[in-house]
Amino acid sequence: MKYHHKVSELRLTTTSVEETQAIAAAFAAVVQAGDLVLLAGDLGAGKTAFTKGLATALGVTEPVTSPTFTLAQVYKGRLTLNHLDVYRLEQMAEVIDLAIPELLEGNSVTVIEWGDVVVPALPANFMEVEFTFGDGFDDRVLTFRATGTAWTARSRTLVEVFQRSQSAPC
Ligand code: ADP
Ligand code: MG
Repeated sequence: MKYHHKVSELRLTTTSVEETQAIAAAFAAVVQAGDLVLLAGDLGAGKTAFTKGLATALGVTEPVTSPTFTLAQVYKGRLTLNHLDVYRLEQMAEVIDLAIPELLEGNSVTVIEWGDVVVPALPANFMEVEFTFGDGFDDRVLTFRATGTAWTARSRTLVEVFQRSQSAPC
Protein backbone atom coordinates (compact mmCIF):
# COMPACT_ATOMS: atom_id res chain seq x y z
CA MET A 1 0.00 0.00 0.00
CA LYS A 2 1.23 3.47 -0.85
CA TYR A 3 1.78 6.01 1.86
CA HIS A 4 0.14 9.34 1.12
CA HIS A 5 1.65 12.28 2.91
CA LYS A 6 -0.88 15.03 3.46
CA VAL A 7 0.80 18.39 3.59
CA SER A 8 -1.79 21.03 2.93
CA GLU A 9 -5.40 21.62 3.85
CA LEU A 10 -7.95 24.28 2.96
CA ARG A 11 -11.38 24.51 4.57
CA LEU A 12 -14.44 26.36 3.24
CA THR A 13 -17.97 26.58 4.57
CA THR A 14 -21.02 26.84 2.34
CA THR A 15 -24.62 27.60 3.26
CA SER A 16 -26.40 26.56 0.04
CA VAL A 17 -26.19 24.23 -2.96
CA GLU A 18 -25.53 27.28 -5.12
CA GLU A 19 -22.56 28.25 -2.97
CA THR A 20 -21.16 24.71 -3.09
CA GLN A 21 -21.46 24.79 -6.87
CA ALA A 22 -19.77 28.20 -7.00
CA ILE A 23 -16.86 26.68 -5.04
CA ALA A 24 -16.79 23.80 -7.52
CA ALA A 25 -16.76 26.28 -10.41
CA ALA A 26 -13.85 28.14 -8.82
CA PHE A 27 -12.08 24.81 -8.31
CA ALA A 28 -12.57 24.07 -12.03
CA ALA A 29 -10.20 26.95 -12.79
CA VAL A 30 -7.25 24.96 -11.40
CA VAL A 31 -8.26 21.56 -12.75
CA GLN A 32 -6.02 20.08 -15.43
CA ALA A 33 -6.13 17.08 -17.74
CA GLY A 34 -5.06 13.95 -15.88
CA ASP A 35 -6.31 15.17 -12.50
CA LEU A 36 -7.92 12.90 -9.94
CA VAL A 37 -10.34 14.35 -7.39
CA LEU A 38 -11.78 12.30 -4.52
CA LEU A 39 -15.01 13.44 -2.93
CA ALA A 40 -15.46 11.92 0.53
CA GLY A 41 -18.37 12.28 2.94
CA ASP A 42 -21.72 10.89 4.01
CA LEU A 43 -24.81 10.52 1.86
CA GLY A 44 -26.40 13.91 1.19
CA ALA A 45 -23.25 15.82 2.09
CA GLY A 46 -23.10 17.43 -1.35
CA LYS A 47 -20.59 15.41 -3.37
CA THR A 48 -22.83 15.09 -6.42
CA ALA A 49 -23.92 18.73 -6.10
CA PHE A 50 -20.23 19.69 -6.22
CA THR A 51 -19.67 17.43 -9.24
CA LYS A 52 -22.55 19.16 -11.06
CA GLY A 53 -20.99 22.56 -10.42
CA LEU A 54 -17.63 21.30 -11.61
CA ALA A 55 -19.18 19.77 -14.74
CA THR A 56 -20.95 22.99 -15.69
CA ALA A 57 -17.75 24.96 -15.24
CA LEU A 58 -15.92 22.45 -17.45
CA GLY A 59 -18.46 23.09 -20.21
CA VAL A 60 -20.47 19.89 -19.79
CA THR A 61 -24.00 20.54 -21.06
CA GLU A 62 -25.42 17.06 -20.46
CA PRO A 63 -27.11 16.73 -17.03
CA VAL A 64 -24.93 15.00 -14.42
CA THR A 65 -26.69 12.26 -12.50
CA SER A 66 -25.52 10.02 -9.66
CA PRO A 67 -23.81 7.05 -11.29
CA THR A 68 -25.61 4.55 -9.09
CA PHE A 69 -26.06 1.75 -11.61
CA THR A 70 -23.12 2.45 -13.85
CA LEU A 71 -19.87 2.75 -11.96
CA ALA A 72 -18.46 5.46 -14.22
CA GLN A 73 -20.11 8.09 -16.37
CA VAL A 74 -18.23 10.08 -18.97
CA TYR A 75 -19.23 13.64 -19.88
CA LYS A 76 -17.76 15.69 -22.71
CA GLY A 77 -16.75 19.26 -21.93
CA ARG A 78 -13.68 21.50 -22.24
CA LEU A 79 -12.13 18.55 -20.45
CA THR A 80 -13.79 15.15 -20.34
CA LEU A 81 -15.26 14.45 -16.92
CA ASN A 82 -15.12 10.84 -15.67
CA HIS A 83 -17.55 10.55 -12.75
CA LEU A 84 -17.32 7.46 -10.53
CA ASP A 85 -19.32 6.63 -7.42
CA VAL A 86 -17.74 3.99 -5.20
CA TYR A 87 -19.93 3.43 -2.19
CA ARG A 88 -19.42 -0.27 -1.51
CA LEU A 89 -16.17 -2.04 -0.77
CA GLU A 90 -17.16 -4.74 -3.26
CA GLN A 91 -16.88 -2.13 -5.97
CA MET A 92 -13.17 -1.89 -5.32
CA ALA A 93 -12.46 -4.78 -7.68
CA GLU A 94 -14.51 -3.10 -10.40
CA VAL A 95 -12.61 0.13 -9.94
CA ILE A 96 -9.30 -1.66 -10.29
CA ASP A 97 -10.66 -3.44 -13.36
CA LEU A 98 -11.62 -0.09 -14.79
CA ALA A 99 -7.94 0.72 -14.59
CA ILE A 100 -7.97 4.15 -13.03
CA PRO A 101 -4.58 5.01 -14.54
CA GLU A 102 -6.14 4.65 -17.99
CA LEU A 103 -9.04 6.90 -17.02
CA LEU A 104 -6.48 9.50 -16.01
CA GLU A 105 -4.88 9.49 -19.45
CA GLY A 106 -5.99 11.87 -22.13
CA ASN A 107 -7.86 15.13 -21.86
CA SER A 108 -9.91 14.21 -18.83
CA VAL A 109 -10.43 14.85 -15.12
CA THR A 110 -11.65 11.97 -12.95
CA VAL A 111 -13.93 12.57 -9.97
CA ILE A 112 -14.61 9.71 -7.54
CA GLU A 113 -17.32 9.99 -4.91
CA TRP A 114 -16.75 8.18 -1.61
CA GLY A 115 -13.16 7.82 -2.53
CA ASP A 116 -11.84 6.69 0.83
CA VAL A 117 -12.30 3.00 0.07
CA VAL A 118 -10.34 3.31 -3.16
CA VAL A 119 -7.38 5.28 -1.82
CA PRO A 120 -5.06 2.23 -1.71
CA ALA A 121 -5.70 1.67 -5.43
CA LEU A 122 -4.94 5.24 -6.42
CA PRO A 123 -1.91 7.00 -7.80
CA ALA A 124 0.09 9.25 -5.48
CA ASN A 125 -1.26 12.59 -6.72
CA PHE A 126 -4.83 13.60 -6.02
CA MET A 127 -7.00 16.23 -4.40
CA GLU A 128 -9.40 15.05 -1.74
CA VAL A 129 -12.44 17.10 -0.86
CA GLU A 130 -14.13 15.99 2.34
CA PHE A 131 -17.76 17.03 2.86
CA THR A 132 -19.17 17.27 6.37
CA PHE A 133 -22.42 18.69 7.73
CA GLY A 134 -22.39 22.06 9.50
CA ASP A 135 -24.73 23.38 12.17
CA GLY A 136 -27.49 24.68 9.88
CA PHE A 137 -29.55 22.35 7.66
CA ASP A 138 -27.90 23.68 4.48
CA ASP A 139 -24.45 24.21 5.97
CA ARG A 140 -21.60 22.11 4.63
CA VAL A 141 -17.89 22.20 5.37
CA LEU A 142 -15.57 21.38 2.46
CA THR A 143 -12.00 20.44 3.33
CA PHE A 144 -9.54 20.34 0.43
CA ARG A 145 -6.47 18.17 1.04
CA ALA A 146 -3.72 17.94 -1.52
CA THR A 147 -1.88 14.63 -1.70
CA GLY A 148 1.31 14.39 -3.71
CA THR A 149 3.53 17.09 -5.14
CA ALA A 150 1.41 18.09 -8.16
CA TRP A 151 -1.62 19.17 -6.15
CA THR A 152 0.41 20.58 -3.28
CA ALA A 153 2.14 22.90 -5.73
CA ARG A 154 -1.25 24.11 -6.97
CA SER A 155 -2.73 24.66 -3.51
CA ARG A 156 -1.53 28.26 -3.35
CA THR A 157 -3.22 28.98 -6.69
CA LEU A 158 -6.36 27.36 -5.36
CA VAL A 159 -6.40 29.66 -2.31
CA GLU A 160 -6.10 32.69 -4.63
CA VAL A 161 -8.89 31.39 -6.86
CA PHE A 162 -11.19 30.89 -3.87
CA GLN A 163 -10.38 34.35 -2.55
CA ARG A 164 -11.19 35.87 -5.95
CA SER A 165 -14.50 34.00 -6.00
CA GLN A 166 -15.24 35.47 -2.54
CA SER A 167 -15.35 32.10 -0.81
CA ALA A 168 -13.17 33.13 2.10
CA PRO A 169 -11.29 30.32 3.86
CA CYS A 170 -12.33 29.94 7.48
P1 ADP B 1 -23.98 13.20 -1.99
O1 ADP B 1 -23.59 13.05 -3.43
O2 ADP B 1 -22.85 13.61 -1.11
O3 ADP B 1 -24.70 12.01 -1.46
P2 ADP B 1 -25.87 15.12 -3.03
O4 ADP B 1 -25.07 16.19 -3.67
O5 ADP B 1 -26.50 14.11 -3.90
O6 ADP B 1 -25.01 14.42 -1.87
O7 ADP B 1 -27.02 15.77 -2.16
C1 ADP B 1 -26.82 16.88 -1.35
C2 ADP B 1 -28.19 17.31 -0.85
O8 ADP B 1 -28.06 18.35 0.12
C3 ADP B 1 -29.04 17.89 -1.98
O9 ADP B 1 -30.37 17.55 -1.76
C4 ADP B 1 -28.81 19.39 -1.81
O10 ADP B 1 -29.91 20.15 -2.29
C5 ADP B 1 -28.70 19.52 -0.31
N1 ADP B 1 -27.90 20.66 0.16
C6 ADP B 1 -28.31 21.56 1.06
N2 ADP B 1 -27.36 22.45 1.33
C7 ADP B 1 -26.29 22.12 0.58
C8 ADP B 1 -24.99 22.69 0.44
N3 ADP B 1 -24.60 23.74 1.15
N4 ADP B 1 -24.16 22.09 -0.43
C9 ADP B 1 -24.54 20.99 -1.11
N5 ADP B 1 -25.75 20.40 -1.04
C10 ADP B 1 -26.63 20.96 -0.18
MG1 MG C 1 -23.61 11.42 -4.69
